[in-house]
Amino acid sequence: MQKNPSSVDSKAETSPMSQLHLLWGRLQTELTDFDLKSISPLRLASHIVLVLVIIGVLALTQIQPPDWQMANKTILPDAAPTPTSEVVARVAAYGGSSVKASGPLMRSAVPFTTIPNRPRTDILTYEVQAGDTVFGIAEKFNIKPETIMWSNPELEQNPDMLRIGDKLVILPVNGVYHKIKKGDSLAKIAKKYKVKVEDIVSFEWNKLDSADAALTPGEHLIIPGGEKPYVARTVSVYRGPIPKNAKKGVGSFVWPTSGYITQGFWNGHRAIDIGAWLGSPVVASDSGYVVHAGWDRSGYGNLIIIDHGNGYRTYYAHLSAMFVRVGDSVAQGVRIGSVGSTGHSTGPHLHFEIRYRNVQRNPLGFLH
Ligand SMILES: [Zn+2]
Repeated sequence: MQKNPSSVDSKAETSPMSQLHLLWGRLQTELTDFDLKSISPLRLASHIVLVLVIIGVLALTQIQPPDWQMANKTILPDAAPTPTSEVVARVAAYGGSSVKASGPLMRSAVPFTTIPNRPRTDILTYEVQAGDTVFGIAEKFNIKPETIMWSNPELEQNPDMLRIGDKLVILPVNGVYHKIKKGDSLAKIAKKYKVKVEDIVSFEWNKLDSADAALTPGEHLIIPGGEKPYVARTVSVYRGPIPKNAKKGVGSFVWPTSGYITQGFWNGHRAIDIGAWLGSPVVASDSGYVVHAGWDRSGYGNLIIIDHGNGYRTYYAHLSAMFVRVGDSVAQGVRIGSVGSTGHSTGPHLHFEIRYRNVQRNPLGFLH
């Protein structure tokens, strides 16, 4: 089960023909991996239709899929639809507050369009679609993923909190979207986000005359270049004695499931998301004992945490099923659960973290 997903496209060929080969290969592997009886004709047909659609688009357009420098974007069509039809409303162009939608703006959907490069001056709202990630949305709008976290309070602690249908504030520049609180002053706000007062005053959208302009609580300011500190989420885990016979990590990590990377490791997402079929097996990346196996309210959904007894812990989130309990000893490669979409999630995937003394490390540096 530990196919290394990154080996599939390590040759990094992107011509339409090689994409086709890749897709066909994937389809065959998926079919042989599956218990054929469990595949309904409908499901099979939908996969075939999907492949045909991709082939058609590739053949007609001769446009190569964008290389986002992320592993394995091959099996599904790009989860990110064109940006044009998703901009559900344009918010008032100026005014520091009164976020009012002026009606839907719909343009015809043209495949593979890109956002024009001229600088935007207004705030957009974006409706989250199936398969979206904060990283992917940020790329579409040409802003940093952190900016999306810092303009949408529900994402501030955790970019995995996306849910289909959520409406996100998309700032025209990188920075922070600040809601003015009672007692706020420009000096205070500037200090908080590590910018200069002039940067806030001179940003046209804010409509501020001077550094002494009165601020109205409840209204918003755009803080260009502003930053917020990163806060790692904590999950309460088993703190009792280490169970007898608890297995120790061997010090190497295997892929917890096979699939393709839908979101890599970045500052706001210190994990990898591996897109896989609903119900795909999830295995222990290294040996250890289970310190958490249950529902997590912070957005992880069904979450398993394994302590490897050597300072490392691994996290497996959004599971549809869990086959271990707290205190269980597990060997590397043993199945512990199934890929799901529980908690805040836009589609079946495994959110996988490797923490060393509670510091999240890039799993891609450990998985080979
Ligand atoms: Zn994730």
